[in-house]
Amino acid sequence: MLGTDNDALLFTYEVAPVFVLLEYVTLKKMREIIGWQDGSGDGIFSPGGAISNMYAMLLARFKMFPEVKEKGMSSVPRLAAFTSEHSHFSIKKGAAALGIGTESVICVKADQTGKMIPADLERKILEAKQKGFVPFFVSATAGTTVYGAFDPLIAVSDICKKYNVWFHVDGAWGGSLLMSRRHRWKLDGVDRANSVTWNPHKMMSVPLQCSALLVREEGLMQNCNQMHACYLFQQDKHYDLSYDTGDKALQCGRHVDIFKLWLMWRAKVPLKSNQHVDIDCVCLCLCSQPQHTNVCFWYLPPGMRHIVDKEEKNKRLHKVAPVIKARMMEYGTTMVSYQPQGDKVNFFRMVISNPAATFEDIDFLIEEIERLGHDL
Ligand SMILES: *Cc1c(COP(=O)(O)O)cnc(C)c1O
Repeated sequence: MLGTDNDALLFTYEVAPVFVLLEYVTLKKMREIIGWQDGSGDGIFSPGGAISNMYAMLLARFKMFPEVKEKGMSSVPRLAAFTSEHSHFSIKKGAAALGIGTESVICVKADQTGKMIPADLERKILEAKQKGFVPFFVSATAGTTVYGAFDPLIAVSDICKKYNVWFHVDGAWGGSLLMSRRHRWKLDGVDRANSVTWNPHKMMSVPLQCSALLVREEGLMQNCNQMHACYLFQQDKHYDLSYDTGDKALQCGRHVDIFKLWLMWRAKVPLKSNQHVDIDCVCLCLCSQPQHTNVCFWYLPPGMRHIVDKEEKNKRLHKVAPVIKARMMEYGTTMVSYQPQGDKVNFFRMVISNPAATFEDIDFLIEEIERLGHDL
């Protein structure tokens, strides 16, 4: 089953019984960790967090308007989805792919630390309703891509409940903190979600690809996606058909992503989350207080430290990170990504998910930034 051709066969129990069962027990375990009673619910391993998020949106739409499956978008009123301005771009991609449209994804304001502002969410929901949109989906982010911020899940879930909107938690990056006794509180309220994206291929260091979408309601995924292809999913087989999980997916053949995760779990490899997340702010001029292993900072070269004029300083600072990054690539020593965000000029965004990273590695990085940038 692990042959190069055959491992893409995770559609029915009969062709991959072991993997189907491993997926079953692992998804159940993940749901228990989320906090759903007895691990009940549903889920699937998908080709990444972006696709998991799209699945969530697909389910939310189907839950509210099941006729969309047969009749398409013309049978559905204008929909509105909500997510913070710091959320992952895959929410918009999903809306585009599903025919909902990126203009129907309404960006909710985030505070200074990158967390969604619940009051703004409520305001935007009311505004959308007034304009004739039907709010159907809210995606809160647990571990934003840039700052590593955790949206206030409890407050967001209250609003979702009040307006009867599907509550999704995009924990692609931060979901793995559910495994950490010390940091789990950052996801308080995740058990109220209708669906959760969780990528073991990020923080938990499982090799790409390994991403799960966990869904609270059982059976919804099956109803939403099943097509009953009669060459695969015959209804008169001699075993329990609920093990033929393939029809829940949008794919036909599906890659076996579960085995790596299950092995790791079985081997009880510690998550090393302490090592992961305790790398605090060693450095420089932070542009947001670290909430995860994301550390965002500017490097101010000596020649710029005394510039008083803010505009002039920002203009020059904006060019620093791109030059240092280019020099890093030319020297071939390391790479750190950079970006602007809102009114903040280009800063380094360092995200550590390698459990083998040491303080010496970080020291090296900082020294390298200084070495390559001190003359700017
Ligand atoms: C990385 C990330 C994604 C996308 O996950 P992929 O597995 O790369 O598709 C979605 N949401 C957040 C918050 C992420 O950090």
